Amino acid sequence: MPTSFLNLAKLCDKLEKISKTKEKIALLSNFLRSLNPYEIEPAVFLIIGTPFAESDSQTLDISWRSILETNYTAKQTTLFNQPLTIRAVHEYFSKLAQISGSGARKKRKRLLEMLFRESSPLERKFLVRMILGEMRHGVAKGLMIKAIAEAAHLDYSLIKRLSAIYGNIGEIARLALVGGEEGLSKIEVAPFTPIKPMLAENLDSLDELFKKPVSPMAIEYKYDGVRVQIHKKADKVHIYSRRLKDITSSFPEIADLIKKTIPNHSCILDGEIIAIRRNDQRPLPFQELMRRFKRIHEVQRLRQEIPVQLYLFDILLLDDKILFDYPYQERWNILATICKGLTLAYRIISSEKEEITRFYQAALAAGHEGILLKKLNSPYSPGERKKEWLKLKEAIHADLVIIAADWGSGRRTGWLSNYHLAALDPLKGTFHEVGKTFKGLTDEEFQDMTANLQKIKTYETQYTVYVKPQIVVEVAFNEIQKSPQYPAGYALRFARIKRIRLDKDPSEVTSLDEIAYLYERQFEKKARI
Ligand code: ATP
Repeated sequence: MPTSFLNLAKLCDKLEKISKTKEKIALLSNFLRSLNPYEIEPAVFLIIGTPFAESDSQTLDISWRSILETNYTAKQTTLFNQPLTIRAVHEYFSKLAQISGSGARKKRKRLLEMLFRESSPLERKFLVRMILGEMRHGVAKGLMIKAIAEAAHLDYSLIKRLSAIYGNIGEIARLALVGGEEGLSKIEVAPFTPIKPMLAENLDSLDELFKKPVSPMAIEYKYDGVRVQIHKKADKVHIYSRRLKDITSSFPEIADLIKKTIPNHSCILDGEIIAIRRNDQRPLPFQELMRRFKRIHEVQRLRQEIPVQLYLFDILLLDDKILFDYPYQERWNILATICKGLTLAYRIISSEKEEITRFYQAALAAGHEGILLKKLNSPYSPGERKKEWLKLKEAIHADLVIIAADWGSGRRTGWLSNYHLAALDPLKGTFHEVGKTFKGLTDEEFQDMTANLQKIKTYETQYTVYVKPQIVVEVAFNEIQKSPQYPAGYALRFARIKRIRLDKDPSEVTSLDEIAYLYERQFEKKARI
């Protein structure tokens, strides 16, 4: 018998009502064990509220507004017919993700209405949360990994390690529950199965690093582009993004280049692609590179307009050899040998503060984002952010006022934790949103902020509380982009709160003119098209 979606909705409802992690894991693992094999994968994704695997190229781009446009409170009409099943809901989501082109909005609305009509109020409540990716029951991927391990009676560390390598936790669950450890052995490091990239920890300053003696490290330019993992076998090359999506069609020239330069090996390479200006090869802002992603149909033209440059910095597989456990320096040597003719990240090896400072300044002067400091003996840890790689970059600061906040999910359930930040138009005395952030506050600060924002609430919708512009925060960010999404015309990239500026009045916050000036100033180092 197929499992009904109502059972899954009831599980989510129970998970929302209990707070003890152990009890949540027990509920989840019992539920996973009760499923038919073909239901495990979709159920895992539906429960954690991300309808598709990370490695899947499908996404559900449905906003709260699109849901409101449907008649989503309409009476259920199929109550006594076939109940909605887990599989059926997943199929609905796949169909919704595939809708594109002209008339997409209407088609999406029609399909959503069909789905809602087939569902009861409880099912509908969780369908909406799944669509918006906000489950509010405190079960994110981390807890799901624990539940899978418990359900399959396997080591948590095994499931965690595999989920760091492989971007489909649903499939991991199915293989673990159906075939145990042997089933999981099917997951292997091989070309065309993208692996989560190793990440870097933030370093605030070199002073912080040099508080202790430092051994020689590799210092590399930090290029501001897209992280790419390039897989090659025979004459086939695929390029994957950091989120494990296949992005080969955005960068055909890079795929050709790899084919030509490494004819005789299978490999998995790690690197960064940046956009450069044709005449002087200077890096262009990240925003220009993003245009290569959005316009799949115009790749040929954009290839001319926005040339790209690949910088390689790691190798994870060479022929049949997995290189994760090789020390970084050895991996680099292998990379340098097989990638003759390709450009590797510019680097030095040093333990001298002055030399590293000079190198950092040279990176910024050349229009790059900063530097990475890598331990020479470090292994490659897929999907992990460890102290073995540190990143140092220059941030820009602004004081902004909070004008609204969204309710958090997962660990942040019950907190207003995503803040809408605004700059001042001093002439009109009005505030205009230039970005959002959920980064930078401690748990205690989130709680205080939630209470303080509610005191100045003007109105609220299901997910957002709008407030009087009274609380000023100092925000660090990496870049300012032109953005049609915000009426102000600008958006901050990677904003994070540095301090709550109780000492500042909203009338003192950064003005829109200053934002425009900061935007222009970026081009002292970066190129402009
Ligand atoms: P950021 O926002 O600073 O790019 P992130 O969270 O996207 O950080 P991190 O792993 O924390 O990613 O920072 C390292 C990122 O910097 C890599 O993901 C990669 O995209 C980029 N990068 C640029 N140059 C290098 C390099 N030489 N070595 C490693 N990563 C590099």
